[in-house]
Amino acid sequence: MSPEHATTANTSSVMSSYGRLPVAIERGEGVWLWDVDGKKYLDAHGGIAVCALGHSNRPIAEAIADQATTLLHCSNYYTIPVQEQLGTELCEIAGMDKVFFCNSGAEANEACIKVARLHGRKAGIENPSIIVMDNAFHGRTLATLTATGNRKIQAGFEPLVPGFVRAPFSDLEALEKIAATNKNVAAVMFEPIQGEGGVNPAQQGYMSAVRELCDQNNWLMMVDEVQTGMGRTGKWFAHQHENVVPDVMAVAKALGNGVPIGACLAHGAAADLIQPGSHGTTFGGNPLACRAALSVIEQLKSGNLVARAGELGNRISERLKSKLENSPGVVSIRGRGLMIGIELDTPCGELMKMAMQEGVLITVTADSVARILPPYILSDAEADDLADRLGSMVIRFLEKNTAVAEPA
Ligand SMILES: *Cc1c(COP(=O)(O)O)cnc(C)c1O
Repeated sequence: MSPEHATTANTSSVMSSYGRLPVAIERGEGVWLWDVDGKKYLDAHGGIAVCALGHSNRPIAEAIADQATTLLHCSNYYTIPVQEQLGTELCEIAGMDKVFFCNSGAEANEACIKVARLHGRKAGIENPSIIVMDNAFHGRTLATLTATGNRKIQAGFEPLVPGFVRAPFSDLEALEKIAATNKNVAAVMFEPIQGEGGVNPAQQGYMSAVRELCDQNNWLMMVDEVQTGMGRTGKWFAHQHENVVPDVMAVAKALGNGVPIGACLAHGAAADLIQPGSHGTTFGGNPLACRAALSVIEQLKSGNLVARAGELGNRISERLKSKLENSPGVVSIRGRGLMIGIELDTPCGELMKMAMQEGVLITVTADSVARILPPYILSDAEADDLADRLGSMVIRFLEKNTAVAEPA
């Protein structure tokens, strides 16, 4: 979120890490949120791609209530049966072998980065490097902000962490050039569709080409599916659109539908690099979070909601495209499933406020991309309503903007 949305008075005791919109959210149900004044909002933001099953989801509420009176926490010194069960489920849907549980997307990526370093050092590289992409977003810890391809996020936190090499996104040739000259590379890390970077999908064929390049060079292929994962794009994980299996994958956001949980999954030899003592977390994989995530997976399966997310995404995209086809200010409408970006030819932070005033919650990312990440439980009518309202808002925003930009 950009700082221009700061609220008026800063009387809060909470650090100003976010320029918050001037609204206080009190409760939610399904795809709807209500503020403290009772105003209702269609939540097309889903808590940043988190609330895939919507708000106040009954089965999750019941699962965590039950778990709260059974066992909240015991630490990873012991076997945790619900954690084992979730690990098995998650590995099965992902086609991966093992998982490390943590509490957020950034922590999941930290684990991926540590796995890459272990892999590199095992291969005899003294200073292993990870290739990361322009416009990537991987989190706000020191290593993940270093991996992030956005100077605004890094500025002020130097010295950054060594061991990263930058490449343009979705450019295979650039990776081949690095392969030919840099013998310190241990892994490539990227988002199948860049989220915070502006909803930028990798070109068709990129992921399978990267897979091949990784095999040729003994690099780990690491995908950050924190935003794209858990069904959002119409497959359980976005890399599955190309039928590739990564070596390492980060998942978080929708995994717990709002209960904090992240995971680093690994396949093949990469799955055995973490050994006792090499990584750890107090809260990661605790029984409460695991119960919530188990309920998420169960509901996504039983409701066939992964395919539904794909269908709903097509429906909304098509409708937006036809509504906006005569708007020259619209650069492109892109994404996959329920991860949709509308790029405008002008910065559109204002659009977020305008939508909020009109009772729709969206975000703007990369300055000029309006983005929606709605829950997968939208009805057809709600999806159409969202597309229509968003489409008209974009048209009105562009009209207003042109009127201001052109001298009288
Ligand atoms: C949100 C996000 C992260 C960071 O997740 P946190 O839970 O905020 O730490 C990392 N990678 C991607 C692709 C994300 O969208």
